[in-house]
Amino acid sequence: ILDVQGVKKAFDGLEVLKGIGFGLRKGETKVLIGPSGSGKSTLLRCINYLTVPDAGRIYLNGEEVLDANIDSMRARMGFVFQDFNLFSHLTVLDNVRICQVKVNGVDREAATRRAHHELERVGLGDKAAAYPAELSGGQQQRVSIARALAMDPDLLLFDEPTSALDPELTGEVVRVMQQLAAEGMTMVVVTHEMSFARQAADEIIFMEKGHIVEQGTPDAMFTASEHARTRAFLNVIA
Ligand code: ATP
Ligand code: MG
Repeated sequence: ILDVQGVKKAFDGLEVLKGIGFGLRKGETKVLIGPSGSGKSTLLRCINYLTVPDAGRIYLNGEEVLDANIDSMRARMGFVFQDFNLFSHLTVLDNVRICQVKVNGVDREAATRRAHHELERVGLGDKAAAYPAELSGGQQQRVSIARALAMDPDLLLFDEPTSALDPELTGEVVRVMQQLAAEGMTMVVVTHEMSFARQAADEIIFMEKGHIVEQGTPDAMFTASEHARTRAFLNVIA
């Protein structure tokens, strides 16, 4: 469903992505790990052209992501950010409804039904009328996941969705993500939550300094990583 080929990106002469390629089949979850500055966020942003790559190609469902089709492509890729990015002046319901109406052209009634459905799915059916500031960080992040789901995306991209949360709120977000993975959602997740990686990832990709050092199943990576760098990294964070 997603095919990333030879993606490169430099900022001010510093090469942050040095030719990244990987693929993702429908229903797969890949977890992207690596040290700070290794290029994980830049890679996710390149996939949906929030950052335009210097070289390489990205295909979604066989169609190349390009400047010319970026709006329609982006509508098919949900993005969940570290800091939630909710509209603070809108209710939870409106946050989940607005892009469906404005971007996908869904009528208001259908968008409302879908919003309630997705809020139920993330365990926030009773918070539709609340404003983001009235919610905990974990609840806000679940709203942001519901908002992405309401767009009916082919693919969800998560950039450290729990790293802005207090530890006791991480679990509720991780559980929602585990549930999505189990339901067959297609996802690329940058995270340091190794319990999630172990449980939910079909494959883990370890990045360092703009390269993919190693990728494999959680079992292979956690128990028999071939690379000293991967082992050293996992020993520190896992
Ligand atoms: P972290 O785990 O800290 O989130 P990361 O793996 O997500 O790290 P990136 O955010 O992709 O790393 O950053 C990779 C490198 O690119 C860093 O050296 C960063 O300073 C640099 N970088 C990222 N975005 C920009 C930008 N817009 N302009 C200049 N440099 C940037
Ligand atoms: Mg990052």
